[in-house]
Amino acid sequence: MKNDLKFSLKALLLMSLGAMMCFSCNSDDDGDDGSNGGDSEDIVVSVDASLFSQGDLTITMVPCTLSDGTETDCWEILTSSIPSDHEQGPWCPDNITDGDEKGGIWLENGNVYDVSGEFIQNMAAFYGDEEWLMYDDNGDIFKTETLEDCINAANPNVGEEYKNFCVECLPSYVTDLTQTYFIPVTPVKLDTSISFGGMGPGGGDGAPSQRGLAFNGVIFDAPAPTDAILGAYTIAPFDDAGGHINTGAGYHYHAATGVSTQLSQDDGHAAMIGYAMDGHGIYSQLDTDGSEPDDLDECRGHADDTRGYHYHVDNPGNNNFINCLAGAYAVMN
Ligand SMILES: [Zn+2]
Ligand SMILES: [Zn+2]
Repeated sequence: MKNDLKFSLKALLLMSLGAMMCFSCNSDDDGDDGSNGGDSEDIVVSVDASLFSQGDLTITMVPCTLSDGTETDCWEILTSSIPSDHEQGPWCPDNITDGDEKGGIWLENGNVYDVSGEFIQNMAAFYGDEEWLMYDDNGDIFKTETLEDCINAANPNVGEEYKNFCVECLPSYVTDLTQTYFIPVTPVKLDTSISFGGMGPGGGDGAPSQRGLAFNGVIFDAPAPTDAILGAYTIAPFDDAGGHINTGAGYHYHAATGVSTQLSQDDGHAAMIGYAMDGHGIYSQLDTDGSEPDDLDECRGHADDTRGYHYHVDNPGNNNFINCLAGAYAVMN
């Protein structure tokens, strides 16, 4: 009797466990089936402000208006644009005998080149133009040495005196700089993508020119105007993190090379590197199997069940991050 009772209780327990497992299986199946449709597009992931490294950043939630008229909350992010997670530079080597470690990188036609002494020595051949000669008889490379040089030479209309100069602006030239950015706490995806605004005052249609913010508070900026830089026979290299300095913006990135803080994902997806100006996450280009997702839209974004809509940055050699904003941006007022 006793044993029989024990047995039937056990059976009952197993049956109800099975039923529970069955229920959870069914609900999972429903979710998976939906992912073939538009379900992952419906998943909205808010900006986790705690992912930004707090050292040089001040982050506050403020009411804001988005470009589509949505009244909502934004993160107001004050940043010194000084990366706390890696060194800045170097950019220009001193002598044509210097190795890769003495210079930064240059981006050309989808490729990333180390700006070594040898690279500077070979620029005439690299660009097929004998006007390139950026070093003297001792092999010393002509490079900007002062704040004044940096301001004058980081300008496409440079005069003859800065022709054939390697341009670098040092962190010491930029002090007490604070940039303020607003990012929607909860992204609002739009039916039509938004082009980025142009550079300079009054540029564009009010949309930001900046693409997004790395977790260290450094901006993912618009592509560097490399044609204008080269047209003046100057080169303004990026450091190995893809960044360099100008006195107006401070330190900023033009390529994602995997140096700034990355948040690895446990499902083989590319690591997260920051947020776009519309509040959607920005991830590195390639998933852990080395492939780029094949379903990216014109902005370089797509959606999945874990991350909702998000972007994958462009190849660093393309001097580019993302192509447009799929969501509304915060309107400054
Ligand atoms: Zn730049
Ligand atoms: Zn993805």
